[in-house]
Amino acid sequence: MEKRIFRAMSLLMLLTTLFVALLWGVTASLRLPDDSRERLRTVRVTLLDSEGTVLFDSSADPRGLENHLDRDEVQQALAEGYGESRRFSQTLQADSYYYAKVMEDGRILRLAFTADTLRAQLLRQLPLALAGLALSLGFAALLAKRLTRSIVDPINGLDLFGPPPEGYHELIPLYRRIEAQRRELSRQLAEMEGRSATISAITENMREGLLLLDPRGRVALANGSVLRLFGQTGAAGKSVLQLCRDPAFTAEVKRCLAGEKAECTLQLKERTYQVLLNPVFREKEQSGGVVFFIDVTERHIAERQRKEFSANVSHELKTPLTTISALSEMMSEGQVRQEDMQRFAGRIKQQSDRLVNIVEDIIRLSAFDEGRAEGEMERVDVGELCRGVLDSLKDKAGERGVSLRPMGEEALILWGNRRMLDEMIFNLVDNAVKYNREGGSVTLSWERSGDECLIRVRDTGIGIPKQHQEHIFERFYRADKSRSKKTGGTGLGLSIVKHVAEYHGGRVEVESTEGEGSLFTCRLPLSQQPGTA
Ligand code: ADP
Repeated sequence: MEKRIFRAMSLLMLLTTLFVALLWGVTASLRLPDDSRERLRTVRVTLLDSEGTVLFDSSADPRGLENHLDRDEVQQALAEGYGESRRFSQTLQADSYYYAKVMEDGRILRLAFTADTLRAQLLRQLPLALAGLALSLGFAALLAKRLTRSIVDPINGLDLFGPPPEGYHELIPLYRRIEAQRRELSRQLAEMEGRSATISAITENMREGLLLLDPRGRVALANGSVLRLFGQTGAAGKSVLQLCRDPAFTAEVKRCLAGEKAECTLQLKERTYQVLLNPVFREKEQSGGVVFFIDVTERHIAERQRKEFSANVSHELKTPLTTISALSEMMSEGQVRQEDMQRFAGRIKQQSDRLVNIVEDIIRLSAFDEGRAEGEMERVDVGELCRGVLDSLKDKAGERGVSLRPMGEEALILWGNRRMLDEMIFNLVDNAVKYNREGGSVTLSWERSGDECLIRVRDTGIGIPKQHQEHIFERFYRADKSRSKKTGGTGLGLSIVKHVAEYHGGRVEVESTEGEGSLFTCRLPLSQQPGTA
């Protein structure tokens, strides 16, 4: 490239000089005759005698002119034959150049040329000179442009990924640096892509929602869980307020973006989320915040149920204990007559039984909760089990005028825990008797339906109002409180039924019409149990 520029500059100078010379030569040769004539016309001729007296002058009347003997050129000519000088001519009022020569006859011929004439000539030639200059400059500019383009064009069209163009070897170090930088960039890009893929894999597979905010509260990153949570397909660049406008949440976001750790609970689509907000600092400067959304619904429900259960247990235990305490106090203080003693003792026994029942039910439920409810699995004849339950409740049903009806196929064998299944059927039939009416009936049926064993308990009792039906399997929930308590119910029977059905891989359903009766259906899978026919 250096060579190219040098060559171009040299060419520019050479061609411009040639052009100027040519221009000057042509104009000079064209103007030469006129100029010569003009210059000749302006030459002043003076003839002096040997004494210096002016005999003739082409520009002035010789009579008015003083003696010229003292003139430098005249003095010099008299001494050497010819003389020259330059001075200001008083006659012409201009700088003049003089040439004097002594002729053979002793007279002196003097020629003078005034600078004024020279200036006038120059001025006359000025437009032409200026035109020539402009032409030369134009020519030089045109040439410079073409040469510049011939140098610059290959640079503009550089292919930085190929070899440098011919004649530009100065660019080789630049090419090498670019190549090295390109390699470094590719390496960094691959590293970044790898890191980004790892981060995406982690964030996308997280169950927790992850949100990265910039300092102005705009979303820099939102993982799939967050997008699903807020029903969005993309959130990058959006304000966090566009995702969620919950006042508690937005207040905590503000705190986080102000550099504080924050936490709140968010209720979304019937689920509860614990939201943890942490400010992010980069080189001591806050650069945004990171927000985690953790689904704590189950924990929340379990917590609530635990609290409710504790409160219920205390309440359920307190009632019979208070009765027992009051009755025994009265008895110990001799306030009870001898003939009432037996009745009081009977009531104490009844309340104690109730306490025992509650405690036993709680122990059973706790065993299910903690996964400790393990019992021996065996082949259970469902018909035999059902008939046994009906037999044990025969007297109770008889007391209330309720008839019990078994209805089922023979030899229906289930793989299960006999004690648990017995308790499940007992609780259902016991309820059907308890919540029945005088002269009503209870039908216990069992049958195979596809891969399932269906055990049904149908009664003609009081029925369960619609609004209670979805709650009756909850612990201590009673649709009919007074009858439950009067009949010694713990409010835990149906919870145990549900747990036993689930323990055997099945479920329990209820259909009921208030005032007409209820139907409880246990569906237990047969397929899982080996050896059942
Ligand atoms: P309880 O010990 O009170 O009977 P359960 O858990 O067995 O407790 O039943 C819960 C509630 O469901 C009962 O209090 C009762 O109101 C209602 N219930 C259960 N079975 C029947 C039924 N067959 N007919 C009407 N109501 C019933």
